Amino acid sequence: MYTEGPANYHIHCTVKDCKYHKGDENYCSLDTINVATHEANPTDVKCVDCRSFECKHHGMSC
Ligand code: SF4
Repeated sequence: MYTEGPANYHIHCTVKDCKYHKGDENYCSLDTINVATHEANPTDVKCVDCRSFECKHHGMSC
């Protein structure tokens, strides 16, 4: 179970469009996140995603 709380200083993040992003602090507010790849054979950082991301813009896709 993922729990939202204050900024988690163990998880740095700059994805400001995520509803779990903590304001100006550039940290995640979840206690843990799920990271995965969308590639069969990941070779670079762009192959890896935060699967805990949720768009904070209601009714819009980011
Ligand atoms: S859930 Fe993922 S994308 Fe969203 S703030 Fe946390 S680390 Fe960043």
